[in-house]
Amino acid sequence: MGNSRHWVFDMDGTLTEPVHDFALIRRELGVPAESDILQHLATLPAQQAAQSHAWLMEHEHALALAATPAPGAVALIRALQAAGCRLGILTRNARELAQVTLAAIGLDDCFAAQEVIGRWEVAPKPSPAGLQFFVERWKVAPAAMRMVGDHYYDLATAHAAGVPGVLVNQPGDPWPGMARWQVRDCAELLECWCSSSAVIAR
Ligand SMILES: [Mg+2]
Repeated sequence: MGNSRHWVFDMDGTLTEPVHDFALIRRELGVPAESDILQHLATLPAQQAAQSHAWLMEHEHALALAATPAPGAVALIRALQAAGCRLGILTRNARELAQVTLAAIGLDDCFAAQEVIGRWEVAPKPSPAGLQFFVERWKVAPAAMRMVGDHYYDLATAHAAGVPGVLVNQPGDPWPGMARWQVRDCAELLECWCSSSAVIAR
């Protein structure tokens, strides 16, 4: 798992403690329980969609300012950065809020601004478009990259793009067969990365 030099991370719930209350967001915005929030907003008349997105931005801005790192996330990203790995963020959040979040957890210097990809830069996950962006930008084969996330969408995105997916921060096996690897959290991912890097160095 660890011998990759090209890593794309989901943001919320992967590098941060999960704080999004999606049931509350659905209630506030009138999104049916079974519907994808972003897809639902895309079907609304322009003015209503704009109002809903404005509410969502304000709500998520407050969450971003209060973000705290997930276990091991800061150490993992710092280690990958120190090893010269390319690092990207692929989030269904907005790019500017991802940057607020990264600043809140002290990792904003680890990701180039153009390599933080949010819901307005590409078709959002589970579309493979975000990972395809990194394939093009980094000139790397999908199989040589890694996509790390905590949600089914992260794994579905990885699957669709041919990128091995790493599931973190999810107990049990909620989506059998979707992740190439599953680890407890970023702390365990760092341990795995260290041991496989050591094998390669030998
Ligand atoms: Mg997430």
